[in-house]
Amino acid sequence: MKICLFNGGRVGVVIGDDVADVTSVLDRLPSYRYPLPRNDVLIAALPTLQPAFEAAVVGAPSIPLAEVLLESPVANPGKLIAAPVNYQAHLDEAIADEATFSRAHVRKIQETGLFLKATSSLVGASADIVIGLPDRRTDHEVELAVVIGKTAKNVLAADALQYVAGYTIGLDITIRGPEERSLRKSLDSYSVLGPWLVTAEELGDPSGLDLALDVGDEPRQRANTRDLIMNVGDLIEFASKFYTLEPGDILFTGTPEGVGPIQPGDTIRASIDRIGALEMAVTQ
Ligand code: MN
Repeated sequence: MKICLFNGGRVGVVIGDDVADVTSVLDRLPSYRYPLPRNDVLIAALPTLQPAFEAAVVGAPSIPLAEVLLESPVANPGKLIAAPVNYQAHLDEAIADEATFSRAHVRKIQETGLFLKATSSLVGASADIVIGLPDRRTDHEVELAVVIGKTAKNVLAADALQYVAGYTIGLDITIRGPEERSLRKSLDSYSVLGPWLVTAEELGDPSGLDLALDVGDEPRQRANTRDLIMNVGDLIEFASKFYTLEPGDILFTGTPEGVGPIQPGDTIRASIDRIGALEMAVTQ
């Protein structure tokens, strides 16, 4: 199932080129009082909501995808966790370009570990990427993004995919330079998820997916998730040794080779096998 959020918090099931509006199912969520749960309550309830979404599709209002504004398919992730350099070919290009890639940040993932992006940086596929510091080089990074479905702590890689609710396309927009990643990658609109979430059981094995990113007519990134240094299971094992992963937490799995600068006026198109594609304008 492909689940999207659109038009100000409405929930849809994507079928072909249309969205079935199943927002009425949200009435089944408990009504919360302060203090609110720290996780994403829709993702936490997905195992029970999904059959209700399926039932609600029958007779639901259908809207062409082209006419809706797509928001991040996870509204309230508690954490945006991200893997630094996690493809060998991207590590090689970073080692080769000292002018762009600060030496402090060019190390293997096993040494660097993971980092967090601010949740305030998160937007969906219908937003613009707004260049926040025009004097700095700002790059695109396309990544497979994993949506955690269940609380996970000290999970083994072999068991890790059981904790995944689904997958989506992630863009980890990045200012190059010497500061900590969590600062350079957390400007407003610098974390993109979309166009929708594909449930784990629909996507299947995440280890052989083609990723692509173009800027305008120019192909920039072409890779496959089989070349991840730490794969999805490895990353969940590693992350859950440090963080308690909660429903709705996002794991950006790292970008492959071919990163490059973007500027206002550019159009970014990104796609991942079995998920879909998104297209976004870069503005200032
Ligand atoms: Mn990245």
